[in-house]
Amino acid sequence: KAKESKGSRVERFSNDLNKQSKEKFILENLLKGVLQRDEFLLYYQPIVNINTGKMVGAEALLRWKTKEFGWIPPSKFIPIAENTGRIISIGEWVLENACRQNKKWQATGYMPIYLSVNISIRQLEQKDFVEKVKNILLKTGLEAKYLELEITESISAENIYNIFSTFEKLNQLGVKLSIDDFGTGYSSLSQLSRLPISKLKIDKSFVNDLYIDNNNKSIVSAIIAMAKTLKMEVVAEGIETNEQLKFLKAAKCHMGQGCLFSPPVDKEAFEKFLNSFFHYNIN
Ligand code: C2E
Ligand code: MG
Ligand code: MG
Ligand code: MG
Repeated sequence: KAKESKGSRVERFSNDLNKQSKEKFILENLLKGVLQRDEFLLYYQPIVNINTGKMVGAEALLRWKTKEFGWIPPSKFIPIAENTGRIISIGEWVLENACRQNKKWQATGYMPIYLSVNISIRQLEQKDFVEKVKNILLKTGLEAKYLELEITESISAENIYNIFSTFEKLNQLGVKLSIDDFGTGYSSLSQLSRLPISKLKIDKSFVNDLYIDNNNKSIVSAIIAMAKTLKMEVVAEGIETNEQLKFLKAAKCHMGQGCLFSPPVDKEAFEKFLNSFFHYNIN
């Protein structure tokens, strides 16, 4: 009897595994032709000055709509794109389209904002990455100061030395750099202080539980204090409630992003924001 139930458990496990690897296999294949099929879109989420409520920038977020399965979330396809190396061409598509769009908005006469783009470590490790960024800026005509690159804080110690010069060159170009999901990784303070980073983005997991978890309050306050010492700005991610906003404002957090202000929206909806000088009433 015991053997039987053990057997079925193993079977169930291998079925789940089959399902998972089948999904991975399908997505991996769909990703191959995704750029040719033109299935990618950029969504934009406002980044707001917490003191004034004014939008100062936005994060470009990749969206994928397939004919076969509808919308596939980044959490599903970005890891696959990173493992297969496809993130290199996908990342270039994102960068070029974000820059072109931002330039177009400026040419239309909208108030200039910066657009920040997520960059995978795989992209940063390329020898010609800075050259590629430079070419995209030239090609699209966007001034470097309106481009920000977000790098997730999962840079290992050995990685950070390899990309040190890349960061320096990007900084010299005038491109801003920010550390994404800050607090979840393990970047050392001494490394951080030597890199030309202009912003830390506090991971949404800390912002989420602000009013339940006192530890998170301490962590958020500590990050803000540290950023001040390092002369960096702080963006809090995932702000959903007024209570969270109130705490962050009192803690002197500079900027915020989250569904309280607006979820990521498509180009048309974002143009309405630009048109009406997106502004959140902060009391
Ligand atoms: P991220 O860079 O940390 O982006 C922020 C994520 O938080 C986005 O998820 C956004 O939709 C979500 N978010 C915004 N406001 C709220 C809120 O109030 N509450 C909660 N719970 N979530 C909020 P999304 O768009 O699903 O993207 C997930 C991750 O996928 C991103 O995390 C980023 O790491 C990655 N990603 C997205 N686009 C790209 C891209 O073009 N290139 C690369 N390499 N990665 C990307
Ligand atoms: Mg990001
Ligand atoms: Mg990110
Ligand atoms: Mg993040």
